[in-house]
Amino acid sequence: MNSRNEELFKRAQLRIPAGVNSPVRAFRAVGGTPRFFERAFGAYLWDADGKRYIDYIGSWGPMVVGHSHPAVVEAVQAAAARALSFGAPTEAEIELAETICHLIPSMEMVRLVSSGTEATMTAIRLARGFTGRAKIVKFEGCYHGHADSLLVKAGSGALTFGNPSSAGVPADIAQHTIVLDYNNSAQVRELFANQGANIAGVIVEPVAGNMNLILPTNGFLQTLREECTRHGALLIFDEVMTGFRVARGGAQARFGITPDLTTLGKVIGGGMPVGAFGGRSDVMQHIAPLGPVYQAGTLSGNPVAVAAGLATLKLVAQAGYTEAIERTTQALVSGLQAEADRAGIAFSSQSIGSMFGIYFHQQIPQGFAQMMACDKERFNAFFHGMLAQGVYLAPAAFEAGFVSAAHGEEELQATFQAARHVFSTLGA
Ligand SMILES: *Cc1c(COP(=O)(O)O)cnc(C)c1O
Repeated sequence: MNSRNEELFKRAQLRIPAGVNSPVRAFRAVGGTPRFFERAFGAYLWDADGKRYIDYIGSWGPMVVGHSHPAVVEAVQAAAARALSFGAPTEAEIELAETICHLIPSMEMVRLVSSGTEATMTAIRLARGFTGRAKIVKFEGCYHGHADSLLVKAGSGALTFGNPSSAGVPADIAQHTIVLDYNNSAQVRELFANQGANIAGVIVEPVAGNMNLILPTNGFLQTLREECTRHGALLIFDEVMTGFRVARGGAQARFGITPDLTTLGKVIGGGMPVGAFGGRSDVMQHIAPLGPVYQAGTLSGNPVAVAAGLATLKLVAQAGYTEAIERTTQALVSGLQAEADRAGIAFSSQSIGSMFGIYFHQQIPQGFAQMMACDKERFNAFFHGMLAQGVYLAPAAFEAGFVSAAHGEEELQATFQAARHVFSTLGA
């Protein structure tokens, strides 16, 4: 074990709960000591002991162009030299808004915020304010940030109201969130048939990336679109993770479904804190000061963060850019699968765009319950084996993985070699 990482972890825990500023970083799911990082470039990270890792997390999604891309760093440095914050409008914000609306045409208007959580929290407030209804529908295993209304899990029976999934969320708030099973279209239809007139909106990850990776199965997104339209509810695609990863135009472009509202984050900040929500302009006109739905932010549209996002999106918007990363991601997944097969390990895998899922299970899971049946112990052993070999995967079995434009043949071959060694130690 690396001594400096351990030393920092001990020191961190004295002043920061569990030593981290976001829970999954604490390695609780896999055990052991989190790596403290000092530097990153391209596809690589360097920890406090100077050990190098191939990075398959990309800061949980944002680093799609690779770490410390010169164009992004330069844009950030230039912006910082001009001003850190104005708390007043800038031309760069218009440019970022225009770029987002151009790449995702369902977003006719957009407002910038500072995190994905802020984006989803406001999108559901807007759906409620626009429709005058209270109920929100979400799906088990989808994560939409940590606003009270969205920290809700399924109640005892489907179609009943949800229960808080965190202490501190009043049941009075959770009862307005209905939690259904991902990919269960029949359940969605039944709910709308019974309660359609009370539903303000449905929020969904159009490709689920917070319970490892789960693709929408035939007709699920279409059903959501149809039911929302029929009953006057708003369909909210939470593309905080899938935006500019599943396709240049997000999951909505890939699946050909047009939501009423979209939330973004991660990639649009290129590693700096930026989120956004946007969509139909008749709906967006309900936001303050045009309309009665309140939303604000001291650092919203921060010039340094916007510069990072804009530089990142300019790269991503180039023809063939996302497709090239998609091919790398496909090659990664098929190479890992081949190594697992060779070792006789029960393993399945898939990818979409630059997101991938690996599962210690014979079949690819299609829902939350199936995902929970994956062999978590075996993932943990694989994770630690790969970490020792210099490959940094998400420190939990139920997280998607991410590839960047900086990953190439050299990184893939090193990853396969590491995987071959680690699979051979797991036993069939
Ligand atoms: C990461 C994520 C969020 C929350 O974004 P933060 O910037 O962490 O607040 C919301 N929705 C989805 C789908 C995410 O992946």
